[in-house]
Amino acid sequence: MDKVLITADRVIAGPAVRVIGDGAVLLDSGVITAVGTAAELDTSVDPGVARLRCPGATVMPGLIDCHVHLAFDAGPDPIGAVTHAAPDELAAAMGRRAEQLTAAGVTTVRDLGDRDALTVTLRAAIESGATRGPRLVVATAPLTSRGGHCGFLGGEVTTDDDIRVRIARNAAAGADLIKVMASGGALTPSGPRMWESQFTPDQLRLIVEEADRYGLPVAAHAHGTDAIAHCVAAGVRTLEHCSWRTADGTVHDLEVTRRIVENDIAVCRCVSGDWRLFLEQLGPQRADAMTEVIRTMREAGVRFIAGTDAGVPGARFGDYVGMLEFFGSLGFSHAEILDMATVNSAHALGLTDTGALAPGMRADLIVVDGDPRTEWDALRRIRHVFTAGRPLTL
Ligand SMILES: [Zn+2]
Repeated sequence: MDKVLITADRVIAGPAVRVIGDGAVLLDSGVITAVGTAAELDTSVDPGVARLRCPGATVMPGLIDCHVHLAFDAGPDPIGAVTHAAPDELAAAMGRRAEQLTAAGVTTVRDLGDRDALTVTLRAAIESGATRGPRLVVATAPLTSRGGHCGFLGGEVTTDDDIRVRIARNAAAGADLIKVMASGGALTPSGPRMWESQFTPDQLRLIVEEADRYGLPVAAHAHGTDAIAHCVAAGVRTLEHCSWRTADGTVHDLEVTRRIVENDIAVCRCVSGDWRLFLEQLGPQRADAMTEVIRTMREAGVRFIAGTDAGVPGARFGDYVGMLEFFGSLGFSHAEILDMATVNSAHALGLTDTGALAPGMRADLIVVDGDPRTEWDALRRIRHVFTAGRPLTL
């Protein structure tokens, strides 16, 4: 099915305000070649071209998950699972998780930390068509301090030379970006606390400079308020988590937030599908503090992008819509959230050929039952997924 004309009740071309009623999209050899009304394209496109008619449905850009760990199993002990797995078993499991993401309508995935650069091998298998899966943008082994957060993935560094060597290795292995664990994290209880910095401001600057020598952007895991400020000063491209933690609770710095906006740094808040349980466990006071900061950042103009942290305990692969509902619960509009999941995430990842439907873009799109502009469940009723024009029918 090289060439196909898809028609549906509406096409959300992206951004979400661009909607064509009774719309159509023409795909040819993995690329979108026309977007318009069904009436126009049905007449102008050769009758010999296959038609995929989808009454009651919406066609929209494929979803983007900017933060996953294909090497983790979403079980209670991802560290044990990833360190004890034989490489070929782990690679097979990662392939299955990539398929789960595709089935959920996710056509682009940024993996922010794996072992042995297994995501690079998977990326090649998907690109060649040997394996089914989303387009992968991969970080390989995240840079972390000795004994620091996720050090078991192989990216521990101490000296400036270690930093240079690690980045050179990741680049040579085929990484699309560099990930740094700028603060501690919950997954690694033996390492620094979540609010403690793992690198000095100078080291973070060195990491951004070195990555830039290979043309690679930097994504920074940063929970701590200090770490966030240092990452912004260093010039990272995206901030992961960005939860403004200190030893004394949440401390949001509005000045730093203004610089995040000015420098077009995207914030990936990393929300799993079971966020209700997470908020419950935090307790009302801390949960309110957390959600209030997100609202304040939104008002300041921060560009949020979509990420589930799939693979860490409780964050299941393909449970994408739950994350969107979290932002809905904070008062973000449907259009704003759809853009977060598509155009804004593509922009933050530096991808100019996905996240919207227009001639010349990659044919990364989904067909869903109903209208996701008014009902999130529509995104749980996926009929078709196209990744670079390759179809998956559910
Ligand atoms: Zn993560």
